Amino acid sequence: MRILVTGGAGFLGSHLIDVLLANGDSVVCIDDFSTGRRINLDHHRDNPRLDILDHDVTVPLEIDVDQIYNLACPASPVSYQQDPVRTTQTIVIGAINMLNLARRLNIPILQASTSEVYGDPIVHPQTEDYWGNVNPIGVRSCYDEGKRCAETLFFDYHRQYGVDIKVMRIFNTYGPRMAPNDGRVISNLMCQALRDEPLTIFGDGSQTRSFCFVSDLIEAMVRFMATPREVTGPLNVGNPHETTIAELAEMIVGLSGSESALHNLPLPSDDPRQRRPAIDRARQALSWQPTVSIEDGLTRTLAYFRERGI
Ligand code: NAD
Ligand code: UDP
Repeated sequence: MRILVTGGAGFLGSHLIDVLLANGDSVVCIDDFSTGRRINLDHHRDNPRLDILDHDVTVPLEIDVDQIYNLACPASPVSYQQDPVRTTQTIVIGAINMLNLARRLNIPILQASTSEVYGDPIVHPQTEDYWGNVNPIGVRSCYDEGKRCAETLFFDYHRQYGVDIKVMRIFNTYGPRMAPNDGRVISNLMCQALRDEPLTIFGDGSQTRSFCFVSDLIEAMVRFMATPREVTGPLNVGNPHETTIAELAEMIVGLSGSESALHNLPLPSDDPRQRRPAIDRARQALSWQPTVSIEDGLTRTLAYFRERGI
C-alpha cells in the first residue's frame, strides 16, 4: 500500500512511519517542518519507499494513496499557542483538505484527535460519550475547539458522503523524538533534570495526567486503521495509569540521578485538573492494551535525551 502521513516528521508521525515502512508499505510524508524535524526521519534517508514533501496541509493536495493518517498539527500547548489562528487553520482546513482527498479516492482516513476535546473534565475517567467541558474563548481553545470541529467534520463527511473515518482521541503520549524545546512536561522535566536545573512544576503539581509510551500508541493507531468500515470511533487511546505532575517529577529525578530541586511556577490558564482515559472501547475494538510501564518508558526516553547530549 501507499500511505499518506501528514505531520510525519513530528514525534508521533515519525514513529508511525517506522512501523509502516517495517510492514512493507510505501509512505508519503507531508510536513511543513514547523514543529517537526527532518532528523526524525534521517534513518530512512536511503529508503526508496519513503517520499517526504514539504507541504502545508491547509493547501489542497492531489495525490494517489490508499490510506491517510492525519497528524499534522502542533501538539504542545507552547507551540499551538504561538500562532493560534494558524493552529485553528491547520486543524480545520487541514481536515477539510484531507477529507476531500479521502472522499475522492474512497479510502480510509484516521484523525489524530485528542483528550483535549474533553477540556477540563468533570467526568473522570473520561469515556467517549462524555461531551467535555471546554472553554471556547480561552488560550487553549484554538487547539481544543479546532480538534472538536475536526471531529465534527469527520463525522459529517462520514454521514453525508460515506467516508471511512477513524477518529482516535490520543491522551498524553511521550517517548524518544519529542522535541526537547517544545514545552511539554516530560521533555521539559527530563531536559532540566539532565542539566541539573530546577524542574518547573506549574501550580502545586497536584494536577494529573496519564502518560502512554509511544510504541503502545502507534500499535493502537495501526490496528485502528485496519478495522472494518463500521468502526469509526471516537476511540480513546492512552495509558490509564494516572499520576500527578509532582509524582512524575519525582520519578524523573529518581531515574536520572539528578540533583535538581522542584520549582513551582503559576498554573497556566485552563490547565486541566485531571485526565485519565477509559479505554474499554479500544481494548475491545482493537484487541489492544498498553504494555509499557511508566518506569520503563521514562527510562527509554531519558536514554534518548542523554544520547542527544541534552
Ligand atoms: P509534533 O508537533 O511533534 O508533530 C506535528 C507535526 O505536524 C510536525 O511535524 C509539524 O511540523 C507538522 N505540522 C504542523 N502544522 C502543519 C501544517 N500546517 N502542514 C503540514 N504539517 C504541519 O506533535 P505530535 O506529538 O507528533 O502530534 C501529532 C498529532 O497527534 C497532532 O495532531 C496532535 O494534535 C495529536 N496528539 C498528540 C498527542 C501527544 O501526546 N503527543 C496527544 C493528543 C493528540
Ligand atoms: N507542566 C509542568 N511543567 C512544565 C510543563 C508542563 O508542570 O514544564 C504541566 C502542565 O501545566 C500540565 C501538565 O504538566 O498540567 C501537562 O502539560 P503538557 O504541556 O505536557 O500537556 P497538556 O497540558 O496538553 O496535557
